[in-house]
Order: sequence, then structure tokens, then C-alpha cells
Amino acid sequence: MNQEALLDWYKRNKRPLPWRLDASPWSILLSEILLQQTQMERGIEYHERLLKRFPTLSSMAKASVDDVLFLWQGAGYYSRARRLHALSIEVVEANEGVLPKTYEELLKLPGIGPYTAAAIASIAFSEPVACVDGNIRRVMARQSNQEEPSANDIQRFADKHLVTDSPGEWNQAMMELGALVCKPRNPLCDQCPVTESCRGRSRAHDLPRPKTSKKTTVEYTCVVRIDEDGAPELQQRPQTGLFAGLWGPEMATGLENTGCEFVGTVRHLLSHREMIVSVWKTVGANGIDPSTVALSSLDRRILRLVGVLDDVP
Ligand code: SF4
Repeated sequence: MNQEALLDWYKRNKRPLPWRLDASPWSILLSEILLQQTQMERGIEYHERLLKRFPTLSSMAKASVDDVLFLWQGAGYYSRARRLHALSIEVVEANEGVLPKTYEELLKLPGIGPYTAAAIASIAFSEPVACVDGNIRRVMARQSNQEEPSANDIQRFADKHLVTDSPGEWNQAMMELGALVCKPRNPLCDQCPVTESCRGRSRAHDLPRPKTSKKTTVEYTCVVRIDEDGAPELQQRPQTGLFAGLWGPEMATGLENTGCEFVGTVRHLLSHREMIVSVWKTVGANGIDPSTVALSSLDRRILRLVGVLDDVP
């Protein structure tokens, strides 16, 4: 693969993302945590929101986890927010708020896995470590014409091609290639800077073979109790488990004969689970303004369905 051609293409085509314009380690860390499971467009929005409220790692450490969850609502995968908050406290206590600079040290922090550690170490601190994620897997599988490359194959490919004197630029170039050109469904091979070395180009659409993931379907029942001012009763969920620490209406069972009114059904997809929630409503007391607490996307949809929430964050 022609590394020079890819780096050159990257310089001319890279998107002006906020964490490229403000490339502080904290800004880069936030972007990498967000982009683990949030689409780019939303990631930018949440990055801006978080950085505005928490301009430094130390400022997040001083806040409560509820403050972080409140800003995180709608971004999904809330355990990331909890681990990020834990990370900020740990770094303040251990290192006066200064992020460690090496892959090995970063890997020890809450919420930081091999990909994220490699991305931060290479982009923020120029350590020569290769990033391996879904984008790299796809580019590698196509370049080498393999349907199901093993994790070792992918790591070897990434290590072999890493440009060690500009590892941050190289890792971002590979990611940008996967995001803009070597796309999952419609690879733009005619515009690809590394097309000459691509052995799988003629069947790029079939490479790599998708990983199969089984989704289980779980049914829930939820009742929204609404007070005379139109505000719903909300409870904070336990600090562990699904939607830990977020707020929402009561999950319940057997509402058919209780005077509750059936409102509708919400289908909600998580990474490995499909949730089907039957939503009911009834009269309650002491409701609270839902815009003042952190809600999951599912709970926002439930509250919108019963007509007590109409904003879209
Ligand atoms: S030629 Fe096509 S399939 Fe090969 S790396 Fe480039 S975009 Fe991907």
C-alpha cells in the first residue's frame, strides 16, 4: 500500500473536525470516547457540548456524575459517561489532571480500550502505535482480498503499514479512508488513493464478511404517571445495569386491569438487544420537569409518546 499517496490524500481531504482544530489531549480523548458508539454528526454536537461545560479534564472531575450524564443524554451507551467521569477523577488524583502520554498507561484508565489508547497516544502524543478498528479491518480485508481476517492478521497489517514518524496523521488517514472512500456499502474505488495495491477491489462489496450478531428481543411494560400539571413521575434508575443512574418512568407488570390507559408501543434497538416497551399512562402526583434530569433515548421516546416531552436534544 502506498503510504505516501494515502497521507497526501489525507492532507487534501481531511474533514475539519473540532478535535482536529483544537487538538488538545482532552479534546481528542473526548472525541474518541464519543465516536466509539456515536455517529459522527452527533459526536460533533456532543463533543462541543461537553467541551463547553468541561473545558478541562479537571473541570469534569469537580462535577458530579449526574452532571455528566445530563449532558450525555441522547448519546447512548451511558456507561461511557460514567467511566469518563471516573477517568477524570483518577487522573486528577494520580497525576494532577494531566493525561498520561503512553499507550500502556492510557490503557489502564477507565473506559480506555486498545483502540482508544492507540488513537490518543498516537494523535495527541505521537507515539508510534497503530489503531485497529472496524475501518481498518475493512480496508485491510479489501486490500488483501480476505473475507474473514483474524484479529492477528489485522493487527499485523496495521503494524506493518504504520508510518512511525507521523503515527497520528497515519492513523487518522486510515480512518478517514475507511469513513469517506472505502465505505462499507459503497466503496468509491475510483477515488481511492491506494487502489493500485487493492487485491479485493473487484469484490469490495463482499469484503469483509459481516460479523453475525444475535439480537435478543425483550418485552417491557412501562407506566407514566402524570400529575395535574402535566408533569410525569420519574425515578432515578439504580447505579448499575441498563441506563444506570438515568431517570425514567416506572417499569411495571400486569397493568390491564388497573385503570391505566394503554398509549402505544415503542421498539428500541440496543447493540445486542431489541426492546419492545408497552407504554401506559395514568394519573400521578409530584411529577418533575423531564428537562431537568438525564434521560435515556428510550425514556425520551416514551415520554414523547405520552405527550409530556416534546423537545429533541
Ligand atoms: S480500491 Fe476500493 S476497496 Fe480497495 S481500498 Fe480503495 S476504496 Fe477500498
